[in-house]
Amino acid sequence: MASAISSSFFPRSAHLSGFEVITNPVWAMLRIGEVPGKGRGLFAARDIKAGEVVLREQPLLLYPQQSTAAAFCSYCLRAFNSLGSAAEAVVPCGNCGRVGFCSATCAAAAAADPGSHCAAVCALLSACNMAGLSDEQQTALQFLARCCNLRLAAATGQAAAAARMAALAALAAPPPLSQHLAQQQHQQGSAVQAESSISSTMVVQELLGRLRHAVAAVGAPPEAAPTLEETLELLRKEGANGYGIMAPSAPDGERRIRGTAIYSQASLINHECLPSLARFDCFDGTPVAGAGATAATAGAHTAVEFRALHDVPAGEELTQSYFPLPWPLADRRQRCQEDYGFTCTCPRCQEEATWSEAGSEDWETDEDAGMEDAAAAEQAHGSGCQAPDHHHHEHPHQPPPLQQEDGGGAAEGPVAEGMDAAYINLFLLKFVCPAEGCYGTMAPPAPPGPADHYECNMCGRWRTEAEFMAELEATH
Ligand SMILES: [Zn+2]
Ligand SMILES: [Zn+2]
Ligand SMILES: [Zn+2]
Ligand SMILES: [Zn+2]
Repeated sequence: MASAISSSFFPRSAHLSGFEVITNPVWAMLRIGEVPGKGRGLFAARDIKAGEVVLREQPLLLYPQQSTAAAFCSYCLRAFNSLGSAAEAVVPCGNCGRVGFCSATCAAAAAADPGSHCAAVCALLSACNMAGLSDEQQTALQFLARCCNLRLAAATGQAAAAARMAALAALAAPPPLSQHLAQQQHQQGSAVQAESSISSTMVVQELLGRLRHAVAAVGAPPEAAPTLEETLELLRKEGANGYGIMAPSAPDGERRIRGTAIYSQASLINHECLPSLARFDCFDGTPVAGAGATAATAGAHTAVEFRALHDVPAGEELTQSYFPLPWPLADRRQRCQEDYGFTCTCPRCQEEATWSEAGSEDWETDEDAGMEDAAAAEQAHGSGCQAPDHHHHEHPHQPPPLQQEDGGGAAEGPVAEGMDAAYINLFLLKFVCPAEGCYGTMAPPAPPGPADHYECNMCGRWRTEAEFMAELEATH
């Protein structure tokens, strides 16, 4: 069997048929395009209306956060405390007994999925020495164990596993952290943090050593484990493309990460600080149960959905924000640089760079700590990073109009002629969730949802256009 494993961790021939956006007629509203100096991006192939779902996609890989794994389905990440009727009960893993599934359907789906908590992945993880590792490091092993097993499955001729490995390989990754930046971080005293994270080569070496041990312990061929170089690349891809999936808020308001989802097509959506899309998921949506339940319906609620915040004209690039919209410029720059390896030069960043210290205080609330939580919340690992150093906008586009001409009450509202401070503030007022400490993004519902309504992608709060106008009035 060992000889069946290719010398490269990623299969040489990419079986991407299942993952090509552009050949999928459902998403005929999209096209993949090149942005000069920025790599690939997703563009509107026709005029897109506010609220339209431009992309809905099942995850390529989905895995739990180690520290909370026992509270969520190991196949679909559904919260066990969201199980409603008496007919629903946790099905423990038949092998390790430490984790479980939200239904027999999910247990069966996981068993048949080499990239989930199947018997082989369960055995690998059980054989892995987790002692002394941080939550993040143990979670990285959850990811790496799934990659190992997908590779083994691909080597035994499972086409779906090979396609998923190819799609993983196609994800963009930022370059290794530069020597300069690493030194800067060290001087700033974040070396301690770096040690508990997975960013240093030494830490990755340690994780790989434990993984190799586990591979040997379960009797798998040693080639199943990636090389150090491949592991570093896998982790960079994971870091730049994985979405942190949040647990429902605890009674004390604390939000924790339940796991990570990596999507293939969504990773094409570039970052912008005033984005045109918001991401929605519904991991606690009720799965189809009973007679209609199949392996396919078991994970249906793990899809991610991107909705247009406002009308987007044909030809325009579609963008998302990799972190909460209210973040001040300095924080956004730091995150872009450290996690994604690029410098954002979007119109908002260009405009805010000209502001005085005082001018930027509008959005620096005294809830910075909460904002950090929300950041971890929204996208623990960020999301679809495109090629590094590629964020130069050759053609700054016209900002979308935020108010209708007959918008009523707020006649004094700024006019979207260009990207000025008033426009940025209005954009944030309109699209940032007003709920305290949420920092989610408000987007119109997908048709045929109620017109002139907006829904928060984090807390689910609704607001009408009229309520927004009243709030706008009140701030003047
Ligand atoms: Zn489940
Ligand atoms: Zn298990
Ligand atoms: Zn920016
Ligand atoms: Zn909210």
